[in-house]
Amino acid sequence: MPVIGIDLGTSNTCVAVVKNGVPQVILDDKGRSTLPSVMSLNKKGQFFIGYLAKAQMSVQPERTVHSAKRLLGQRFDSEEVQRILPFLSYSIMPSQDQMTCVMLGEQCLSPTEISAAILKKVKTLAENALGEPVHQAVISVPAHFDNKQRQETKHAAELAGLEVTRLINEPTAAALAYGYGTDMTKTIAVYDFGGGTFDISVLEIGEGIYNVLATGGDTFLGGNDFNQAIADKICDRFKKTTRIDLGIHSLAKQRILDAAEFAKMQLSSADQTLIDLPGIVPDIDPKYAIREVLTRAELEKLCTPLVERSFKICRNVFESAGLKKDDIDEVILVGGMTRMPLIRRMVRDWFGIAPNTAINPDEAVGIGAAIQAMALDNDEDVVLLLDVIPLTLSIETAGGVCIPLIPKNTKVPHRVSRVFTTSRDNQESVIISIFQGEGRHVEDNTRLATFELSGIRPARRMEPQIEVSLRIDVSGILSVTAIDLETKQSQSVQVVDMSMRALEALESEEQP
Ligand code: AMP
Repeated sequence: MPVIGIDLGTSNTCVAVVKNGVPQVILDDKGRSTLPSVMSLNKKGQFFIGYLAKAQMSVQPERTVHSAKRLLGQRFDSEEVQRILPFLSYSIMPSQDQMTCVMLGEQCLSPTEISAAILKKVKTLAENALGEPVHQAVISVPAHFDNKQRQETKHAAELAGLEVTRLINEPTAAALAYGYGTDMTKTIAVYDFGGGTFDISVLEIGEGIYNVLATGGDTFLGGNDFNQAIADKICDRFKKTTRIDLGIHSLAKQRILDAAEFAKMQLSSADQTLIDLPGIVPDIDPKYAIREVLTRAELEKLCTPLVERSFKICRNVFESAGLKKDDIDEVILVGGMTRMPLIRRMVRDWFGIAPNTAINPDEAVGIGAAIQAMALDNDEDVVLLLDVIPLTLSIETAGGVCIPLIPKNTKVPHRVSRVFTTSRDNQESVIISIFQGEGRHVEDNTRLATFELSGIRPARRMEPQIEVSLRIDVSGILSVTAIDLETKQSQSVQVVDMSMRALEALESEEQP
């Protein structure tokens, strides 16, 4: 039975497989290599996924969900969600466990369920193309995806009837697509600019080994920000001449965003394009229209600061890994945004070498996932991935100070144990909180899990010895165990998220 590779992207999803040693993208019945990661609900209560759903975006924006990946595994009150909230054309709200859920008609769906629907659609697509059932997949995730986001991706796959044999980091997958079947030995940078996120990874590749040296990214930087920048400019101009704020007209807002994206893509090959939106606020007056020319030069001026932000991240990643730009033999471009001439030019200027544009930026990640799927399925040593964790994992100690246990860029799988103790006499239990991030204090980091180890024998402060172990598997998923070394009482948790679910998942077990 084939094992497929899936690039579950913010904007588009791509599915691939390796057949007779040859990686190939699975095309739909119209020959298209990607599926829009969009879900809509029509007035009759029918759900649509992909192209049909995307077509609904400017007709029924409030019933069409796009970019659900940005909400995956996110608490409603998180910075990420609060930042994108004003720009969403559909409604979201906190779920019972304070995570984010999407309102589609009367239904409240989690981003995980929406991702599951997209995965189910590509699973069926693959089954139709391959003529046999598919039950297993390798799925790619952004390198900086945290534990919760990884867990939810796996959960979405399970809901879609797919067992995830591994999660693979997107830039690592792209490197695999680039290096597979060659005998090159190189240090490469994978510059991945997608619809919602930016990632940079540096890898050494050679003899089938893909060794990630460093990785970093920004969940707030992607093609959507470019679309928004263009749309904001259009809305500002419109407001100046008409005093009408289009921001409160959801249909107009979505039409402008769509037109902005279309213009941005056109300007990758044309010097100028016309943005033509008749009847933009028909409720007020059908005569109001937007009709303006956008040139590539204007677009580039508007978007240069966004591209510069990507290099700030590159600089940080290079510095923290002790790398120099001269170390890089090749820069691989991944993600739809790297089709933009401005990005290609700025990448060349920053790295001092022309980027490699030979691989298809929309397909490379899916292909890499398929290569990893094949290697795991065949138990073949054709590829060996030595990936890293993107963010430091630490434990909270007195005063809300985070003590790092596993620094970022540590290779996975990895296991570490450290012994802690109590701070009060006769303390019967300790609360263990694990955080992710580079800050020194808890408020600067993301809480991954909190659990209680109870049953500690009465003793003077500093006497009990509590060993906390963190284990990260090859998919970058963390589990934590705490054990009282004297009583052997232990608690372990596979980290799902910081809220009630993590606590419910607690298991008490006696150490042998
Ligand atoms: P991805 O998440 O990798 O599928 O990338 C999707 C992003 O790439 C979206 O923001 C698209 O608008 C953008 N994109 C796709 N094609 C082009 C193009 N030809 N020029 C500029 N941006 C593009």
